[in-house]
Amino acid sequence: KAKMTRRGSHVIFEAAIRQELESRLTLESELALAADRGEFELFYQPQVRLIDGSLVGAEALIRWKHPVRGYVSPGEFMPVVNTSALSERIANWVMETACRQARDWELAGSGVRVAINLSPSQLHSGDLAHSVATLLESTGLTPSLLEIEVTEDILLNDEGRVLDMFKRIQQLGVRILFDDFGTGYASLSYLKKFPLDGLKIDRSFVSGLLSNSDDAAIVGSTIGLSKQLGLTVVAEGIEDRATADFLVSMGCEEGQGYFFGRPMPAAAFEKQFLAAELGAASAA
Ligand code: C2E
Ligand code: MG
Ligand code: MG
Ligand code: MG
Repeated sequence: KAKMTRRGSHVIFEAAIRQELESRLTLESELALAADRGEFELFYQPQVRLIDGSLVGAEALIRWKHPVRGYVSPGEFMPVVNTSALSERIANWVMETACRQARDWELAGSGVRVAINLSPSQLHSGDLAHSVATLLESTGLTPSLLEIEVTEDILLNDEGRVLDMFKRIQQLGVRILFDDFGTGYASLSYLKKFPLDGLKIDRSFVSGLLSNSDDAAIVGSTIGLSKQLGLTVVAEGIEDRATADFLVSMGCEEGQGYFFGRPMPAAAFEKQFLAAELGAASAA
């Protein structure tokens, strides 16, 4: 009887795996179709100087504009993209679209930087530094207006290669920031190993800042550490003024979060943020 049960659960288990594989394959082919149809879009979220709320940059965040489901978040499809054959194609699209957009804004007279999130395949296959150089040349974008955000999982393998790539990218004048800082296993050792220009303190530490003294201690010392290492520090996930004020009191320079603005289509970003920046510039 025991044998029967085991055999039964084995069959159920197999069915579950098969189902998961099938839904993954379905999603993969939907994503390939979405790429063909141009259903991906970049949203932009403002990054500000905390002391006066002035605009300094925008993070480009991908969305899938699904014909039925509406805008789909990257958390729902990027894990599949990043482990599929589509990875390089979408990563290249993100980089090119963001650079073109940044150049348009630069030509309009804005000094806003644009940050892109790197996908794992971009560091581990092909020559990212060369692609970035080519893109800067073809768009005419000033290199210091481009930022690249990398997460710890991307840095895990092939240290020598990553190090070499980072150096060459920085030689172009493009800045590299450590994203989701503090959530990985070896954040500190990566600060030592890789030449980084700044770090972004993960939202999970920022959101509890006012109510949790451990979070406050972690954020405070991360800000101190960044300064001592000469790194720019950006706080992610700021949702209210009190958190922003507290971060200023701790010496944090830059921030990003729903309090300042949600990620939004380029046209909305231009209207809500760039118009004011350009107005102020021409009035000055
Ligand atoms: P991330 O790079 O850490 O981006 C920040 C995420 O936090 C974004 O989620 C943003 O919408 C969200 N966020 C910003 N401020 C707040 C806030 O005040 N409160 C809350 N609750 N959330 C806030 P999103 O757009 O869903 O992106 C999730 C992740 O997907 C990103 O995390 C990034 O790792 C990845 N991703 C997004 N776009 C791309 C892309 O073009 N390429 C690659 N490779 N990854 C991307
Ligand atoms: Mg990011
Ligand atoms: Mg982040
Ligand atoms: Mg993240």
